[in-house]
Amino acid sequence: MSIVIHGVTKLFGKQKALDNVSFEVNTGEIVGFLGPNGAGKSTMMKIITGFIPASSGKVYVNGLEAGTDNLELKRQIGYLPENNPLYPEMYVREYLGFVASIYNSARFRKNQINNIIELTGLAPEQNKRIGSLSRGYRQRVGLAQALIHNPAVLILDEATTGLDPNQIVEIRNLIRETGREKTVLLSTHIMQEVEAICERVIIIDKGIIVANEEKSYIYSVIKRAKQIIEVEFDKEADVSKLSDIQNISNIRILRNNIWQIEGEGDEDIRPAIFNFAVSNNLTVLSLQKRQSNLEEVFRHLTS
Ligand code: ADP
Ligand code: MG
Repeated sequence: MSIVIHGVTKLFGKQKALDNVSFEVNTGEIVGFLGPNGAGKSTMMKIITGFIPASSGKVYVNGLEAGTDNLELKRQIGYLPENNPLYPEMYVREYLGFVASIYNSARFRKNQINNIIELTGLAPEQNKRIGSLSRGYRQRVGLAQALIHNPAVLILDEATTGLDPNQIVEIRNLIRETGREKTVLLSTHIMQEVEAICERVIIIDKGIIVANEEKSYIYSVIKRAKQIIEVEFDKEADVSKLSDIQNISNIRILRNNIWQIEGEGDEDIRPAIFNFAVSNNLTVLSLQKRQSNLEEVFRHLTS
């Protein structure tokens, strides 16, 4: 077991940012730590990495206790903090050398810097000022600083937030590559992130763990989740006939001629709605499917 969290509570004044949180991450696993903004993800990660103390509970990383063995703990962990604080006036190579020197690894410093620059695709940018890099490259520098001491455990806080779609794909690939021989805990508020990288998902909401499941299970939940369709017809419709259709579970009017129709099961209910319109001389002015979002997944997992 690489990471063991046991009954961690964190109070900020009266606010409980974490409420008796427990979970474990096995060696070599890539686990997604998923939850909406304010759920407590960053707080948990700061406690794991020894940057802030828990109010109560215990955290162990490779057998080292956070808060007690912090110096050795930081050697075992590569940490990419939220918003990736960097020194914009430093040069990429210079900065990585600076980080390497913190870990006191003079004996392999030069090799290690070269390797990490290669691995994170920073070679063409290595002599530029960090402040002049694109966000995607800055995020690579953040990953490089997290990886430079070859840690066994990676803690990545919202590593792809704020990147454009191409950069997101690149950084995800990089995490997958570099995470192959490491234990990785990565936080995100984006469901797709989990799909792309993780094997297991731990979901936190308001400081409480609401799910800890294999990715495939989370996806089966999403699939079972209701389809919610919003449809606008050109005129009044007798939608009671729609309720005869199998899979349609609920119909209600939202506004004039605009209906919300819920379906259950694997079969898409949209063709049935179109056919209904055609056979009743109605024109479909718009038809939208509401995406199964994180909130709905939460509701299904917690209900
Ligand atoms: P997430 O990373 O999931 O978005 P955070 O861990 O940053 O959530 O925050 C969890 C809760 O704790 C939020 O309500 C936040 O406002 C609060 N919080 C975080 N850090 C502090 C702090 N230093 N002082 C007071 N409240 C904090
Ligand atoms: Mg956060």
